[in-house]
Amino acid sequence: MSFDFCGNENVVSLLNNIIKNQRFSHAYLFYGEEGVGKKTIARQFAQAILCKNQNKPCTECDSCKKFLSKNHPDYFEIGMDSSKGKQGFSVGDARKLIEDAYIKPNEGSYKIFLLNNVDTLLDASANTLLKTLEEPPKHVIFLLISGSRSGILETISSRCVPVGIYPVEAEICFNEIKNRFNNENEKQLKLVSKLCEGSIGRAIFYLDTSVGKEVLSISEKLLQAYLDNNELRFLQVVAPLEDSLELSLEVFKCFLSRIRIIMNEQIKCENNLNVGFLNNVDKVFECVERSKKILIGNGNKKLTISRFCAEIFQK
Ligand SMILES: [Zn+2]
Repeated sequence: MSFDFCGNENVVSLLNNIIKNQRFSHAYLFYGEEGVGKKTIARQFAQAILCKNQNKPCTECDSCKKFLSKNHPDYFEIGMDSSKGKQGFSVGDARKLIEDAYIKPNEGSYKIFLLNNVDTLLDASANTLLKTLEEPPKHVIFLLISGSRSGILETISSRCVPVGIYPVEAEICFNEIKNRFNNENEKQLKLVSKLCEGSIGRAIFYLDTSVGKEVLSISEKLLQAYLDNNELRFLQVVAPLEDSLELSLEVFKCFLSRIRIIMNEQIKCENNLNVGFLNNVDKVFECVERSKKILIGNGNKKLTISRFCAEIFQK
């Protein structure tokens, strides 16, 4: 068995080589957009480092079994809580981590720490970790996860082997979700494989969670009202979003993906061009981005949403 990962062949082959040669660096930085699978591949890499069989990760050895049941004594996953902003991982947490790192592994040769959302690290916590990242004990391997390479302190990223994970093509995504959701109708899977814009995690969110399904449904109604030029219906669909920031941001994102899909289709079939739609696309993008910023910045939700509707239909 090898890595089970969709697309990103370069990354899979890089990690396979590292595992084959058993020459590990002391820190790796997995970076890429939300939902592309940074954590999934980093976890598999950790499992492979700890695996005791020839074909790593094997899923059958003692170590793999413990890893998969989340009981491996030498693997630690530390989730910086991004919802708490930069307060998610304190200097105290960083000190505790360093203490743990200096204790020898329980079983194998390595102790692995996966640090999630390192782009949300407080500078003070990052500085506390820095020295350990620079010269960790020989048995320690850090796997850092970040939304971008530039979002973290240069002094940290320069000490890591960068592993960039990229969105996959819609067709690859379609095949992947078809395997996982074989009861779902093909038309829906095709649509989701485009809407997720190359992020398998996002596709799973749309197909497998109640919030995701709601987002699909609201954004579809929104698009229809927009295409019918029906401002009142648009307002009715969008109004309940005032109550949830999370839902409204997700709906905005999905609505834009839907617009993008139509835009691409329009550009492809030149004969049937809807010039009015294409001329207005830029305005839609602007309105959504502006409203998103205001909502994230804690602006008045009701006002923002109604202004959003008015602006989008303004001729
Ligand atoms: Zn194994």
